[in-house]
Amino acid sequence: QTETGRARIEEAIAAGYAAAQATGGGKNADYIPFLASVPPDLLAVAVVTAEGQVFKTGDADYAFAIESISKVFTLALVMEAIGASAVHEKLGADPTGLPFNSVIALELHQGKPLSPLVNAGAIAAASLVAGSDAESCWASILDNQSRFAGRPIALSPEVNSSEQATNFHNRAIAWLLYSAGTCYSDPMRAVDVYTRQCSTLVTTVDLATMGATLASGGVNPVTKERVIAGDHVAPILAEMMMEGLYTSSGDWAFNVGLPAKSGVGGGILAVVPGKLAIAAFAPPLDDAGNSVRGQVAVAKVAEILGYNLFRP
Ligand code: GLU
Repeated sequence: QTETGRARIEEAIAAGYAAAQATGGGKNADYIPFLASVPPDLLAVAVVTAEGQVFKTGDADYAFAIESISKVFTLALVMEAIGASAVHEKLGADPTGLPFNSVIALELHQGKPLSPLVNAGAIAAASLVAGSDAESCWASILDNQSRFAGRPIALSPEVNSSEQATNFHNRAIAWLLYSAGTCYSDPMRAVDVYTRQCSTLVTTVDLATMGATLASGGVNPVTKERVIAGDHVAPILAEMMMEGLYTSSGDWAFNVGLPAKSGVGGGILAVVPGKLAIAAFAPPLDDAGNSVRGQVAVAKVAEILGYNLFRP
């Protein structure tokens, strides 16, 4: 980035932060006990460019639970292992139009998940991670998240035990997949690994770096390591555009026009291919499960920088 490029991004994240701070409403996720206890006033915005420049403001070094945003990276890992067309065939690429943990979508499609970014598809994806047991699958998921972030990512034992003790609904989803032949490992192992992948701690800067690795064609722009094949970026971003923000994915595409993924921990990440990634964190969620202030911040940054994939 030139001097002016840098100044524009700094201005944009400051404006995104201010717009988010002026926005109220929403409520921390409370179905996972740990998430209910995170201070609701935390707010952070970060941008990492495809050249590896880092911009941040607010509580950008506060580490929070990655939750559903992890689905993007396990999808990437599985795509490396089995290829894009097998991912498409096994995990789908369509929005469900239903809540993230719906079993109705599965029932309507003979047990085939529609998207790797909802729980059914994400648990099926976790079942496709190569490994002889849960520990070896988990090791490759953690290593993959770390390579995307450019630093060692770690599990929060607190978040993980809070989720493992309450994930009955996800266990039911795994058994439904298994009965339909669409869970490719022991179903309880798949849920165990999936629950752990949601329980890692990331900062807003980590999220932006993970997104920037997609923005720069699969190479982490900070560490310069190639993390995934360049050809896999477009189908991953397509999945994010279709189902990245739960039941308001279409509203987000309409208003912002960038592939994005949110998580119930309060994180949100958007990718501008070839340019940069924008991440934000603020715990209170709207009814669809997306960070209220995180969406405002990311949308504002994108608007100021003039990024919307659908704008000619
Ligand atoms: N671990 C959470 C669950 O499966 C993640 C949900 C989310 O962020 O959407 O319920």
